Amino acid sequence: MSIMRVVRARALGFCAGVRRTVDLALGAAKKYRLKLFSMGPLIHNERALRDMADLGFSVLDEDELPETLVHSVTVIRAHGIGPQTRRELLRRGTKIIDATCPKVRKSQLKALELFEKGFTLFIAGEKNHGEVRGIRMFARNSLVVEDEGGAFDAAKTLFSKNKTAKTAVIGQTTISNAEYLAICSAIKQFFPDLAVYDTICGATMARQKAIAGLCAETDALVIAGDSASSNTRRLLAAAAEYAKPAWIVSNASALPPELGSFGVIGLSAGTSTPDVLIGEIERAISML
Ligand code: SF4
Repeated sequence: MSIMRVVRARALGFCAGVRRTVDLALGAAKKYRLKLFSMGPLIHNERALRDMADLGFSVLDEDELPETLVHSVTVIRAHGIGPQTRRELLRRGTKIIDATCPKVRKSQLKALELFEKGFTLFIAGEKNHGEVRGIRMFARNSLVVEDEGGAFDAAKTLFSKNKTAKTAVIGQTTISNAEYLAICSAIKQFFPDLAVYDTICGATMARQKAIAGLCAETDALVIAGDSASSNTRRLLAAAAEYAKPAWIVSNASALPPELGSFGVIGLSAGTSTPDVLIGEIERAISML
């Protein structure tokens, strides 16, 4: 058996927002003898979700809330929720523990402020992502644009209806800088005065930047995490930009067989990947 060399990325794994969510959920499980819920999956990681289910957490779907939630506690995940969803939860009688990441909260409040000032808001991000779904509820006239082409089309349609619309853009906290710039440029072709807000999270950026350094000193990369996590997928995309062979690996027994043919493996992990899982995957690689 050979020992393979593993190099960890300078920044990887849980961000402050996800760590806070987990801490608040653990605290709620300890403190309350009530039914426990999370509003949507607390973390985009299968292993972490299993651990939460073992603690007694059930996942609520905001489109199908039960008639009543009395005698329960509901943890709001870092992605946050919109004001209507909050009202619906309170109306059903649950106690809310709010783990909305402060950075997401800032985006929500900015969206509300821009809406109240009469701006048409573009949100650069994934339509069905919890964070984006929540933010758009704060600015009812917002337009979600997922890529440069979508941004161009949406801006063109708005321009045909209202050439003097006041426009602004904010980004999903996990969008890459390059994508955000491309989306902003597409909108500016129609609305040069577009107000651009920097809402990209430093934690996500740090993990994406660390991929560059890792690619320079390794032969292939393993991204520990789930492909359900958008920032984990973005790390994989960042590795592809450097033409580095890379895989998302969800657990220590799922290493791709091709990995054995490389000498030095870089290890990164999305912001929703628990430390314990990163450690297990690291050990499994080094024993290949
Ligand atoms: S990635 Fe950033 S914005 Fe998202 S939860 Fe983590 S710290 Fe908050």
